[in-house]
Amino acid sequence: MKLQFLGGAREVGRSAILVDDSLLLDYGMLTGNPPQYPVDSPDPDAVVVSHGHLDHVGAVPTLLSGDRRPPIHWTPPTQELALTLSRDTLKLHGGTYDCPFTETHVQRMTQVSNPHEYGETFEAAGYEVTLFNAGHIPGSAHVLVDDGDTRLLYTADFHTDDQRLVSGTTDRPDADVVVCESTYADVDHEPREVVENRFVESLQTTMWEGGTVVVPAFAIGRTQEMLLVCDAHDLECYVDGMGKGVTTMLRNYPAFVRDADALRQAKSHARFVTGRNGQRRRIAEQNTVIVTTSGMLSGGPAMTYIPEIRGDPTNKITMTGYQVEGTPGRELLERGRADIDGRIMPIAAQAESYDFSAHADHDGLREFLTAYEGSEILVNHGDNCEHFAAELRDDDYDASAPEVGDVVEV
Ligand SMILES: [Zn+2]
Repeated sequence: MKLQFLGGAREVGRSAILVDDSLLLDYGMLTGNPPQYPVDSPDPDAVVVSHGHLDHVGAVPTLLSGDRRPPIHWTPPTQELALTLSRDTLKLHGGTYDCPFTETHVQRMTQVSNPHEYGETFEAAGYEVTLFNAGHIPGSAHVLVDDGDTRLLYTADFHTDDQRLVSGTTDRPDADVVVCESTYADVDHEPREVVENRFVESLQTTMWEGGTVVVPAFAIGRTQEMLLVCDAHDLECYVDGMGKGVTTMLRNYPAFVRDADALRQAKSHARFVTGRNGQRRRIAEQNTVIVTTSGMLSGGPAMTYIPEIRGDPTNKITMTGYQVEGTPGRELLERGRADIDGRIMPIAAQAESYDFSAHADHDGLREFLTAYEGSEILVNHGDNCEHFAAELRDDDYDASAPEVGDVVEV
């Protein structure tokens, strides 16, 4: 089996692995200014997508240009999320050099879509492929590829611990080769319960003091997790941005969330913001919690809420995910100011950060890999892949960290 790393190797973003010039695993984009795409534009016989995040699915529509129509295999939620994300990319960048596809390409995705349940083995480009719950976001999958000789497990993004929205990964299918993500290989998460309790206490304190809390959250996964947390602790909240539509959509896929009843209840208790007639400004004056995109303050309705609440130190902004270097969210945490729509604004409101990660941390990755001690491990999807591969080698694993553009025979 020949693996070609077209992106997402020794980096996070634009994940893409081509197997034997034939089967493509993920085809993502690296968000940024400008966005970056995988280093090669392959013509695969079939595509398997691990999950509905931009860095894994964002460039898939470009595979459907001209008369190319490779079948795309994924779980039902991943298909829906891919459509949502592609349309959002069109909204942001459509018609510019930064967006190499059009609405026509996006529509073709539904024509070539092959949705699969977890554990169902199917044929793609002549391989036997099976998807397993990866515990990252709803519909996220580990991808097992079998050519009759070699079994390749592409972990993609995964979490070993339960989140409120999805259960952690438990399947460990036999594999000769494992391509393993390493986003948080250098990090040890605090126990989830501890993070959640501290977060809830902080929200309650601000509410008691009469303030407003803005909770910037990624639309996919994190927004729903925050609604579940608020509901579990009887905190009233508003929800705004792209996360609203994703929450509604996920209600149609009860099999892909941990507790469909809890999600239904959290959704019915959250107040959906329409944004009409200055509604956002009125809400920002209320003594309440607002869960909204974008997770790094780089767009979305958060751009309306932050200027409204920023002047009063009673108010609070609680970041709920990793803040990439150079984003307004990172700037807020480090310097107490943020670039909102091109204006640098000092922020008097309190800013805090909570690690609600959807990825396995160092110990989680190591625990996962104990099932693969005799396998060849290729570490990808991280800022420090070589370091983690070296650590694994020290513990007698056959491990390495390919670079973008590398071709590895396994
Ligand atoms: Zn992801």
